[in-house]
Amino acid sequence: TCGICVEKCPFDAIEIINLPQELDEVPTHRYGENSFALYGLPAPQEGRVTGILGPNGIGKTTAVHILADEITPNLGRFEDEPNWEEVLAEYRGTALQEYLEDLQDGDVTVARKPQYVDKIPDTFDGKTSELLAGVDERGVADELVERLEIEAVIDQPIDTLSGGELQRVALAATLVRDADFYFLDEITPYLDIGQRVTAARLIQQLSADDRSMLVVEHDLAVLDLLADALHVAYGEPGVFGVITPPKSTKGGINEYLHGYLENENMRIRPGAIEFEEHAPRTEGYGDTLVEYPAMTKSYGDGEFSLEIDAGEIRQNEVLGIVGPNGIGKSTFAKLLAGRLEPDEGSFDATLDISYKPQYVEIDQPMRVDAFLSSITDDFGSSYWTTEIANPLQLERIMEQNLSDLSGGERQRVAIAACLSKEADLYLLDEPSAHLDVEQRVLATRAIRRYTENHDKTAMVIDHDIYMIDLLSDRLQVFEGTPAERGHAGRPMGMREGMNTFLANLDVTFRRDERTGRPRINKPGSQKDRQQKNAGEYYYAP
Ligand code: ADP
Ligand code: ADP
Repeated sequence: TCGICVEKCPFDAIEIINLPQELDEVPTHRYGENSFALYGLPAPQEGRVTGILGPNGIGKTTAVHILADEITPNLGRFEDEPNWEEVLAEYRGTALQEYLEDLQDGDVTVARKPQYVDKIPDTFDGKTSELLAGVDERGVADELVERLEIEAVIDQPIDTLSGGELQRVALAATLVRDADFYFLDEITPYLDIGQRVTAARLIQQLSADDRSMLVVEHDLAVLDLLADALHVAYGEPGVFGVITPPKSTKGGINEYLHGYLENENMRIRPGAIEFEEHAPRTEGYGDTLVEYPAMTKSYGDGEFSLEIDAGEIRQNEVLGIVGPNGIGKSTFAKLLAGRLEPDEGSFDATLDISYKPQYVEIDQPMRVDAFLSSITDDFGSSYWTTEIANPLQLERIMEQNLSDLSGGERQRVAIAACLSKEADLYLLDEPSAHLDVEQRVLATRAIRRYTENHDKTAMVIDHDIYMIDLLSDRLQVFEGTPAERGHAGRPMGMREGMNTFLANLDVTFRRDERTGRPRINKPGSQKDRQQKNAGEYYYAP
């Protein structure tokens, strides 16, 4: 083994144990004398979807500002700033040369989808239809509205849309533009898996039309499905970032997860992120936390109705919950908490539930440390610091105001707040939103360790299938028609749960032979057909 990874190294990389240090090279851009520096640039390619995989704060947006001609790279020089000729000279002979020349000639138009769609209502005041009409340069708004299923909100003011609706409207508003280069900064937050796959297909179709697509994405299954090539971004967030030359998507993701970049001869993380078929618990299953009977619940005149199969939740488990948005998952939680009465079935246990909603709203003018210490007396204790603050990387942001946090920072504070409360059951709705890959793994570990060490039980709703796989002991599958009818199955084992869930979506996964990482099969491929026949949608041998 290489001395750092727990398992035998699947690559032949043994020697290099130094973590990334700032390069001794000319940077592409540096913001100020001792400020963040970016090395390298991604190379958009016509007719291709190029992915960027890397942590937050590593310079991805900076790179895009350069590619969009909004920042002229200074090559780290402040007194005698270089002109474009000198910049071009740096990139002569690379995949970027042609792109940068076109940019200089004014031949490149750019369309961009921002990372934080929740902010769109701050800058646009009007209805969905007005937003789209203003940018529909290709005349395809109607088609995209249908494909992305946003008809229902087309006449609604933008500031009344949910995060999932805003995400799809923002995608439509970017893809209707007539540009050479599209930049999409995270497409999956708040979308369910079906919507994620639809978004990926739309982006691929547009690239086939000789356009360049550059996508930042932290949902690895979607990135794998979407990208034709991949740049890995590494370094030290906030200090420096390096964007590698393009790799194959599969190779780039595997190297990234392994924590070692082969061509660069660079270890980017001390250990590997590993996928097991199902990370087994150290102890056996606990007792039953709660048994509930079959129940039904509908709203209004039955506009939405939910049918729940009888089941039980076990003490000390993480129960993964999967299913589309708008299918009754939060309604189920409210029934368990005694906040709603079922129409049929009687259930009087009232569980104390600590709930992190999908859309995190903690915009108070209060510091992070003051907010968290108002929630728990354990704040600052060594156990709280080890189990909650450290894995959620809160130390660096403790003194910031809640209202100044980025989406990923706010998410981590909200997960910490949820786990810090005293409760019987912790319910986390989409904890992965806006977290980068490392942060997802760390948050997963925090949730699992917390339930294990404190005899707690958690239910986690998420649409990142890798995160659900890493997190859950069992699965509960919700199915039906969103906003009309939902059905909640009984909690089941991971294999049965994934098979039920993925059969509904008609998607199969195979295992990457080198890393065990699950990868989406091409529809209709030999593996896809074989696995469907065998009824093995996820954990195929
Ligand atoms: P990413 O898109 O990977 O999250 P960014 O490109 O937004 O990263 O930011 C990389 C680093 O550069 C961050 O530390 C950020 O604070 C810093 N940065 C971004 N814009 C500026 C600026 N205009 N002046 C100084 N520093 C900046
Ligand atoms: P999920 O958590 O799966 O996204 P929810 O349980 O929040 O789904 O909602 C399921 C459906 O019920 C949605 O169509 C939602 O609009 C509707 N709904 C939720 N709460 C109410 C309510 N109090 N009154 C009427 N309809 C509601």
